Amino acid sequence: MITVRASSLSELFDCAARWEAKHVKNMRLPRSGAAQLGTAIHAGTAAYDASKLSGEGITADDAAGAVVDAIYRPEEDVEWDADLGPNKAEGIAVALHGKYCREISPVQDYVGVEVNCDRLTIPDLGLVLTGTTDRVRRSADGLGVADLKTGKTAVGADGKVKIAGHGLQLGVYELLASAAIGQPITAPAQIIGLQTGVTDKAQRVGIGTIDAARDALVGDHDNPGMLEHAAKLLHSGIFFGNPRSQLCSVRYCPAYPTCRYRA
Ligand code: SF4
Repeated sequence: MITVRASSLSELFDCAARWEAKHVKNMRLPRSGAAQLGTAIHAGTAAYDASKLSGEGITADDAAGAVVDAIYRPEEDVEWDADLGPNKAEGIAVALHGKYCREISPVQDYVGVEVNCDRLTIPDLGLVLTGTTDRVRRSADGLGVADLKTGKTAVGADGKVKIAGHGLQLGVYELLASAAIGQPITAPAQIIGLQTGVTDKAQRVGIGTIDAARDALVGDHDNPGMLEHAAKLLHSGIFFGNPRSQLCSVRYCPAYPTCRYRA
């Protein structure tokens, strides 16, 4: 059995050699400021939604304390740069946290916040999946998963949330969430986009949906799904590099200085 984190599967398909460097060889880079900004927004919004769910009901301002903590007391080393220092990140993160609490959370009916699945074994593929689903929500179509995505292009000027490229990950979260709560996931998956612009106008939030996220993942009788491809790749132990990956840079790949696929 090979254990793989759901959040790492996209990277496996993007550049298997980078996946191996991080998840097998344990090579690490300091976290980027942009990644920590995303972590801070996740922390604040999760604190807010979890308190609503438990009935404690802390305010958005109270929950923003978790945002500030994540920026000034990170659990890992963070490499801030000239373009994004902690002060600027705090301003963006607190503003987006507030928008999420005012505009997104009230229209959602969450039944789970940061839902963890320790272990989902798929014996046929020799895989064990693990991971945490940001939210599980109730809707007229049944239960569905929602994933928060932060980034500079997360929500377009037309308000549309970028969903391209997230289907695989959301499909895995559906499997994990279903295993964790012991109920079927039948509603479309949601991407909650939080655009990390500097100005108020560019700090957009929105919800996009992905129908049938599990289809490509699981496949059918005639077409093997992405999970089967992932299992074959992982069990082969052959991890080719993809120098055309957008993340093929010294900034994002710990194997970059020694990688033979860049030649
Ligand atoms: S340097 Fe580029 S090709 Fe090599 S592992 Fe990293 S991302 Fe992949």
